[in-house]
Amino acid sequence: MTFNPNADISGGKASKRGRNTGIAVGGGLGVIALVIVSQLLGVDLTGLLGGGGEPSTPDASIEECLTGQAANERVDCRMKGASASLETYWEQAAPEELGVSYTAPQDFVLFDQSTSTACGGATSATGPFYCPPDQTIYVDVTFFDELETRFGSSGGPLAQMYVVAHEWGHHVQNLAGTLSAAQDGQTGPTSNSVRTELQADCFAGAWVANAAYTTDDKGVAFLVPPTASEVADALSAAAAVGDDRIQQAAQGQVTPHTFTHGTSEQRQRWFTTGYEQGAAACDTFGIDGSQL
Ligand SMILES: [Zn+2]
Repeated sequence: MTFNPNADISGGKASKRGRNTGIAVGGGLGVIALVIVSQLLGVDLTGLLGGGGEPSTPDASIEECLTGQAANERVDCRMKGASASLETYWEQAAPEELGVSYTAPQDFVLFDQSTSTACGGATSATGPFYCPPDQTIYVDVTFFDELETRFGSSGGPLAQMYVVAHEWGHHVQNLAGTLSAAQDGQTGPTSNSVRTELQADCFAGAWVANAAYTTDDKGVAFLVPPTASEVADALSAAAAVGDDRIQQAAQGQVTPHTFTHGTSEQRQRWFTTGYEQGAAACDTFGIDGSQL
C-alpha cells in the first residue's frame, strides 16, 4: 500500500524511544516481561517468545517524517503515516459504525529493544502490543523482519501497517469497553481473547478498505488504494500469526484449548470481513462460537 508522495503526514501520532529506556535486556527478563504483559492484557499480536533483530535507523528522527514520500521510504515514517490515516478513519468510523466516541491513543511508541510501559517492561520479544492503562501502542519495528524471517509472512508495507491497524483496533475496543473481556484469563477457540483478537483483525481490514479515502488537512489522500498483491501481503501476515501456525512450528502440534488469537484461517477471514463489509460487521462477540 503506497502513500501519496505529497500527502502531509506531519500530524501522525508516533514517537521514538531509544534503547534501554526501561528494563535491561537479557537473560530471562524478556520472558518475564512477556508473561506480565500477556497475563494482564492478552492483547499482544503474537504472544510469542523470540529475539528481536538489530535496531533500524536508531538515530533518525521521527520529526523528519513529513510527507507520504518519506512514509514510502522509511519504516518509521510509514508508521507515522499509518497513524495519521488510522486517526482520520476512526474519528469517523468509531461513532458512525460502532456508536463509540473516539479519542486518540495517548501515544504510539516505536521502541528499540526494550521500554517501560504502564503494563510493565517490554522487549522486542514481546511483539507489538497495546497497553490499556496508558492507552499506548508499542511496536519495535524489528518485529517486521521477524514477521518474514521467522513467521514466513510475505512482508511488504501493508503487512506492516496491518500490524499497526490491528493494535489500533485494540485501542478502539478499549474505548468501546470490550477490551476488558479479553482479560478474563480464558483461552480456547471461542474465548473472549480469540473474539477480541479476531475483531481487531476485522477492524484492520476495515481500515485497509477505507485508507485511500482518508485525507490530510488539504484533502490529499494519505494512501492510494491497495493492489491485490498488497492485500495478499496483509493476509499473509494475518496467517503467519495464527495460533495453529505458531503452535505447529513451535511445539509440533496444535492445542486449540490454548488458543488466544484464532487460527490462520480465522484471522484471514475476519480481516476479509472487515475489508469487504466495514467495521460494523466485526461483531465477533455477538455470534455463536461455531461461527467465529
Ligand atoms: Zn491483538
